[in-house]
Amino acid sequence: MNFFRCSRLFVTPSSFFKYFLKDLIWEMPTNEKKIWLTFDDGPDPIYTTQILKILDEYSIKATFFLEGEKVIKYPKLMELLKRKHHSIGNHTYSHLNGWKTSTDAYLKDVYKAQKVIKSSLFRPPFGRIKISQIKNLIKDFKIIMWSIMPLDFSNKISDSEFRGNIIKNVKKGSIIVLHCNSKSHYKVCKNLPVVLEELLKKEYEFCSTW
Ligand SMILES: [Zn+2]
Repeated sequence: MNFFRCSRLFVTPSSFFKYFLKDLIWEMPTNEKKIWLTFDDGPDPIYTTQILKILDEYSIKATFFLEGEKVIKYPKLMELLKRKHHSIGNHTYSHLNGWKTSTDAYLKDVYKAQKVIKSSLFRPPFGRIKISQIKNLIKDFKIIMWSIMPLDFSNKISDSEFRGNIIKNVKKGSIIVLHCNSKSHYKVCKNLPVVLEELLKKEYEFCSTW
């Protein structure tokens, strides 16, 4: 089945998926209008910097799941994120697909990243992680998934569909995943200000503590 032909199904994860992976965090428990904005795949001197600029304009704090390899390359960017009081999380060292990687090799990669990232938060790249990997990582990390993936990386959806994926699905405790990478950059930078204004108008508060 073509992923993008049924892409709408993937904007919010199914309860079937959530049931079998219930040790993972899919949304935050809250009765208040709070949401958690997250960005994967940084830090990057162009993409992350641009996103930071937009977040600054609205005084919004987010969580950045970083790749260890990129942190080694751009350590000052991770420091900048921390200095601006955003949260950071581990996104493996080399952006591994858990389904295609042995548990030993996966854990080695995560802890290699941990030496520089030093966070209690983890998000598996591609959302793909094996039960055996979860069982090990859950001892040291909160494993953060998402409740809204608006498909910022897809060139098959329009700007308004992308914005709608967020605005129409958002609710108390939503975790929204966006990306700091070349595939997502144009769509995120073009639409993020409008989305943030829309969410602020709906009186949502942005959280970055977990
Ligand atoms: Zn990723």
